[in-house]
Amino acid sequence: MNQKTAQLIAADKARIWHPFTQMKAWADPAHEPLVLVDGQGAMVRDSEGREYIDGNSSIWTNLHGHRHPAITQAIKDQLDKVAHVSFLGSTNQPAIELADRLAALLPESKLDRVFYSDDGSTAVEVALKMALQYWQLSGDPQRNQFVSFANAYHGDTAGAASLGGLGTFFDRFGAIHFDTHHVEDLAALEALPDEVTSRLAAVIIEPKVQGAAGIRLWPDGMLIKLRAWCDRMGTLLIFDEVLTGFGRTGRMFACQHESVAPDFLCLAKGLTGGYLPLAVTLTTGRIYEAFLGEFHELKTFFYGHSYCGNALGCAAALASLDVFENEKVLIKLEEKIYWLEELLGGLSALPQVAEIRRCGFIAGIELQKASGMRCDWREQTGARVCVAARKSGLLTRPILDTVALIPPLCISKAQLSAAVLALESAIQEVIPD
Ligand code: PLP
Repeated sequence: MNQKTAQLIAADKARIWHPFTQMKAWADPAHEPLVLVDGQGAMVRDSEGREYIDGNSSIWTNLHGHRHPAITQAIKDQLDKVAHVSFLGSTNQPAIELADRLAALLPESKLDRVFYSDDGSTAVEVALKMALQYWQLSGDPQRNQFVSFANAYHGDTAGAASLGGLGTFFDRFGAIHFDTHHVEDLAALEALPDEVTSRLAAVIIEPKVQGAAGIRLWPDGMLIKLRAWCDRMGTLLIFDEVLTGFGRTGRMFACQHESVAPDFLCLAKGLTGGYLPLAVTLTTGRIYEAFLGEFHELKTFFYGHSYCGNALGCAAALASLDVFENEKVLIKLEEKIYWLEELLGGLSALPQVAEIRRCGFIAGIELQKASGMRCDWREQTGARVCVAARKSGLLTRPILDTVALIPPLCISKAQLSAAVLALESAIQEVIPD
């Protein structure tokens, strides 16, 4: 390890508390975290000069690659004008243009109102609070409960965390959570008694695929049935497309696979191409209009963050949408999705692979012992496979014993092959057959 890397790691361990990280293990002298210094396209490079395929798109954010000239230039151009101005009491051109472009992406949906925030959690938080206030303003204040699905992940702020179905993350904070019913699937939702359904403000789902649950797919047709159920019950529907938005499933948005529109659509992560934190919650005129009134009626949505409508983020997002168009990203992606399917088909033959779940460019490889027995999660097999894969130039993260492969949309077929090959040798190395 070079001296600079060693200094940086020591300084990190002395000061920083990392997200979702057991810091005792992080601070262990034997642990050598990667210090990432730059990136180009689907590759990132560490302070030792080693290059890796960015196999989880820098935590599911990056779409068109690192240092994409168009996005970099758009951010620089905006920086030459102004980085950030208040969205409370004033507005800015990139935010206005972006709202228009986003609404135009789903013309049939009636989702034509755009509320800006910062990240996936706040996009969801906004939808929840808008839904609650909508029912208060509409004379139905008893509709103050939510439904989310088992194993769901919608973020970490208290409201969004209320919806989380992963007990390990959320149970300890139950006392401060919104009133939420966690249901296993559509059948369990349909079985909810009238006393519950009449109290529901909204149902939230990660459409087509649950990410943090370990890449778990919903059955085809689920969204259509869910929309119909919400309409019958008179409740609102929230789609959390923080992961699935912006091409990851092969369509611009996952809800387009079933031509279903929610009442709220939450977008973040890939919104700026993975360059800057920015989020939006789109909703309909029906919701928006319920909040209109005289100031003294106090119908206002009293909610916002300092960086709402951040001009740099909006400029990056506009450039990312341009890249989608100019580089025909979704058309080119089709072939790469088939290629990924083919590669993963080969990988599934390994006795150490229990199952591969995939929706478009979102894939999860669930590991098992070569005997077919489940791995013991305490042995952190998934994490060890990811560390081993680094030696062959792949950087990705596990969700327990499922290794997520969610590369940037710009990755080449050759890089995809190299990524899957790296996984194969890491699996063989870590799990003896
Ligand atoms: N919703 C989904 C579906 C997610 O996958 C995530 C993050 O992984 C979030 C919300 C929270 O997003 P953020 O980490 O940007 O707050």
